[in-house]
Amino acid sequence: MTEFGLIDRIRDLTAALPSNGFEGIGDDCAVLPLGNGESLVFTSDLLVEEVHFLRRATSARELGGKALAVNLSDVAAMGARPVATLLSLALPPETMEGWAEAFAEGYRDLATRYGVALVGGDTTASRSGITINVTAIGRVRDDRIKRRSDARPGDTILVGGALGESAAGLRDLLDGRCGTPLAAVHRNPVPQVEEGCWLSARPEVRAMMDLSDGLASDLRHIMERSGVGAEIDLERIPTPVDLRTALCGGEDYKLLLTADTAHVPALLADFRAHFGTALHPVGRITGSRSLVWLDRGTPQPLDWQGFRHY
Ligand code: ADP
Ligand code: MG
Repeated sequence: MTEFGLIDRIRDLTAALPSNGFEGIGDDCAVLPLGNGESLVFTSDLLVEEVHFLRRATSARELGGKALAVNLSDVAAMGARPVATLLSLALPPETMEGWAEAFAEGYRDLATRYGVALVGGDTTASRSGITINVTAIGRVRDDRIKRRSDARPGDTILVGGALGESAAGLRDLLDGRCGTPLAAVHRNPVPQVEEGCWLSARPEVRAMMDLSDGLASDLRHIMERSGVGAEIDLERIPTPVDLRTALCGGEDYKLLLTADTAHVPALLADFRAHFGTALHPVGRITGSRSLVWLDRGTPQPLDWQGFRHY
């Protein structure tokens, strides 16, 4: 069974549970409308030693930042502003002092940068490596929430920055080249928090999510939840590395969005004026339900998938 097959199975098995006002499984965050025109959003991510990180290749301080960053990215993907987190740690005895303290400093530094509180969690011993779980909570106006399900045929598909750097950096790390600039990108993801909040206020932005498993995989979530297809122009993918790594590599934590094409020129100009960086149009949403890769207009028979845990 795949990761998403298992998630679907869990969702089926628990479908009869009350929703208690929550919009549940399937987007980057769960949503709880507060009834005053605002909602809270909730997300949770795990980092497991030897699966998500190697202790010898990532400093505790960097990992503290990364554990928080990947959660803030999911909050930003809803158009929400992160406000608080809970942090749970399973730690082997030898990490309890120096390692754990450096981890907490890295976590605090990134939390300070984004003004996010730490309001709880859990701490326990582990007999087999470090496991980190962060839950993040964000706040957003109801009419500004950006879901995966709101893409429409004709929309332009955009990404919030260069793709593939993190996956190329992971390759460096696994090859023992820990000091390269791309390896540093992999260890220090920068969530697009301000960008997500800014984009949430733009009505022409329809669907949004963050890229954690690669465009080739993540775009399919927007397609499935919106009931649409997509065409990607390979020559427009912003990347300093090879195209396959850019499209199939994980952990970019850049925003992926669709926007009303008529308003894209203004969106691009305003975004650049505000942030000094570019949003990159990379394709369009179609009514076909299939994903088509185009190289200067010519369809390419690529069977590319994003990162998979199983
Ligand atoms: P993301 O990459 O944005 O963190 P995922 O692709 O991991 O999201 O998860 C897809 C959806 O499934 C999300 O809404 C997530 O909250 C939900 N999900 C993942 N694992 C579980 C689980 N074990 N139980 C319930 N929901 C889950
Ligand atoms: Mg996500």
